Formats: sequence, structure tokens, C-alpha cells
Amino acid sequence: MAEWKCSKCGFIKDSRCKTRKCPECGASGSFEKAGGAGAGKKSSCNTKKKRSCKK
Ligand SMILES: [Zn+2]
Repeated sequence: MAEWKCSKCGFIKDSRCKTRKCPECGASGSFEKAGGAGAGKKSSCNTKKKRSCKK
């Protein structure tokens, strides 16, 4: 799992895939990888199949 941090409000979410929309402030595309377990690992989410990231 990787940690994603919203650059707008600082909300941190544990998710395998990058979160597109922040549930806290509603910003979209504001999440950046915040390290943690899985940091440095290539995510399988970085593909064209973005639908697989949807929960
Ligand atoms: Zn946010």
C-alpha cells in the first residue's frame, strides 16, 4: 500500500492506487505520493487501465 497526501488540505489516504479526488476538500488531482510502505515500488496503477484503480 502506498500513502497519498492531498497537497491542498493534507489529507492522507492509504490506497494502492492514486486517489483522484480528495474526499476532504474535494480537490481533484491534488494527491501526491507521501511515501510509506510501497514507496519506491512501481505501481501497477501507472498504466492506461485507470479503471482498475476505481473502488
Ligand atoms: Zn484535500
